[in-house]
Amino acid sequence: MKGRDRLRIAIQKSGRLSEASIELLARAGLSFRMSRDRLFCFGESLPIDLLLVRDDDIPGLIEQGVCEAGVVGLNVAREHSLEQQSAGKDAAFDELIAMGFGGCRLSIAVAQDEQWEGPAQLAGRRIATSYPALLGDFLQQHGVAAEIVVLSGSVEIAPRLGTADVICDLVSSGATLLANQLKEAAVILDSQAVLIGTRASPADERRDLMDLLLRRLDGVLKVRESKLLTLTTSRDKLPELLKLLPSGDPPAAQQLVGPSDRIALQVVCHQDVSWHQLEELKRAGASHLLVMPVEKMLA
Ligand code: ATP
Ligand code: ZN
Repeated sequence: MKGRDRLRIAIQKSGRLSEASIELLARAGLSFRMSRDRLFCFGESLPIDLLLVRDDDIPGLIEQGVCEAGVVGLNVAREHSLEQQSAGKDAAFDELIAMGFGGCRLSIAVAQDEQWEGPAQLAGRRIATSYPALLGDFLQQHGVAAEIVVLSGSVEIAPRLGTADVICDLVSSGATLLANQLKEAAVILDSQAVLIGTRASPADERRDLMDLLLRRLDGVLKVRESKLLTLTTSRDKLPELLKLLPSGDPPAAQQLVGPSDRIALQVVCHQDVSWHQLEELKRAGASHLLVMPVEKMLA
């Protein structure tokens, strides 16, 4: 079979992950032209196209070879893998990169007035969820037998409707739980958006494109929290300052112009630099402290 020379990434068409997925890909230098039916985005800057679909369809599309990669919540990826596993099949994708957005938890929630003492309490009860495989796995790990009621949406109202006693659902702020007189009792999975992709990279142009995409995304994600810190100091203060510098790449030092022992230090920090850290550095003999955002990075 002839290989394709364009890479295809599936992302959520409309939902919580859509905007952030496109934004992150754009920051990695990808630009697109949307088709009229808004189902497809043609890659203009690189031969990488987007397919806009429901998030639940993305793992299957990768398995069928319709696309090579996709952005989904870890909850969707893991649920699909567990389903495949119990059907005796291997999931045909890997979790390639955590994307740093779409954070949420898949949690057990119980009535606000119920005292929570642990998973054993779930024995014999009806638990409503859209994630039967992840919930089933959790119950099995805790040796608890319960009835799983599978619902495709509006899980949080099941206890009020009397179709379940307890729920297992995605939570971020907890406001939805609160509004339904429920409280978070146990976290089953900490989730965020992940890039998933074909396990066996296709052996054609797409492999190089995939490598390029992963390298760029890695750079974009590293840069997100990275700061460039510069300061001046005298040479004798250097050992003390080096101890205080936030963790990052090894600092570069330069002699300042003029007949002095003054030097300039420059360091890329892989996290934000706080006022407190700056004040400590100043006390230890640093001056002219500057913290700048990093725009692009290619290590
Ligand atoms: P689709 O129409 O594509 O099937 P959906 O209703 O399944 O959409 P969304 O509600 O848009 O999906 O959520 C997509 C993903 O966003 C979830 O799978 C989850 O990983 C993440 N997410 C982050 N916070 C929350 C939250 N509070 N509730 C639900 N999902 C969340
Ligand atoms: Zn969905």
